[in-house]
Amino acid sequence: MVTPTAAQVSLARRLPKIELHAHLNGSIRRSTLKELALAAGLNARESQIIRGDARTVSEMFAVFDVIHHAVRGGKTIRRIAREVLEDAEADGVVYLELRTTPRAHTECGLDQVGYVESVLQGFKDYEETAQRDRRCFARLILSIDRRDPAEVAEATVDLALRYRDRGVVGIDLSGDPTKGRWETWLGPLTRARESGLKITLHAGEVPDVDEETRRMIAFKPDRFGHLCFLSSENQSSLWASGIPIELCLTSNVLTCSSTIPTYAAHHFALHHGRGHPVALCTDDCAVFGSSLSNECAIAIAAFSLSADDLRAITRRSLHMSFLDPSSHDFAQILTRLEAGEEMDLQ
Ligand SMILES: [Zn+2]
Repeated sequence: MVTPTAAQVSLARRLPKIELHAHLNGSIRRSTLKELALAAGLNARESQIIRGDARTVSEMFAVFDVIHHAVRGGKTIRRIAREVLEDAEADGVVYLELRTTPRAHTECGLDQVGYVESVLQGFKDYEETAQRDRRCFARLILSIDRRDPAEVAEATVDLALRYRDRGVVGIDLSGDPTKGRWETWLGPLTRARESGLKITLHAGEVPDVDEETRRMIAFKPDRFGHLCFLSSENQSSLWASGIPIELCLTSNVLTCSSTIPTYAAHHFALHHGRGHPVALCTDDCAVFGSSLSNECAIAIAAFSLSADDLRAITRRSLHMSFLDPSSHDFAQILTRLEAGEEMDLQ
């Protein structure tokens, strides 16, 4: 395993960063999770689980179980969204694309519309208190869960279109990679794209999904997440397509250990080494106990990256983002990145 030096950690923290693959619930602030879990009647096993970072896949799913049990209601969703942005800002993230599956919490009277409203209200709460020179700009991606039928996927696309003017920029496909079939989502995803939304797909998270991955590459989404398992044929098509990949080092090493036993063996080196566009991301920083700075520090250490390498990856990540390149926000972020700004973080 790789342990970055103090200088590498410090460099990764100071450089402005772009986060493109982070799930709202998985990014919950740890102290908030503990507080909510206690209020929800945490049992001894659950309290043991959230004391440490996930080191195995079963521990990871156990943390998710606690999160889903503890996070209920619009007020909580709103709070979590605000705190995720505050934490990102404190970590030197200047742009964050957060994703979440709109879920009704019926026992709290919250429907899918209320869910999305709550997340966007959390964004607004953050913006009202953010420091101008440090502000983390944010956009929202709505996720289709692979377990959901086509009608639910269509409803998610409708929601994304409804809130497009308030910060929703795209659609993601995620959830248990062993569930569902590509044909189910093809219609809703095609409609989303034709309506101007961007698309990112979790893909290649488990072995033996080459045919699904082949069809996903043929669909030409705007980005892929993970691609830990990729046949040589699909790899050639991916490289020819130029479709960027969101890479989450700690998450991938933990969940795909059969093919990525160490950080050094991560496919970051393969794709980045040949100039294919990649972004460094966290996936679920609360679950893995890793910030984006930490992921960047690991990348610096594992792949011998220089400060300029990391700056170049970050600039490219902004161009991979779903943010409108003609927008004022994009211009402001680009200016901060191009200035090579180093942030004075506590
Ligand atoms: Zn993910």
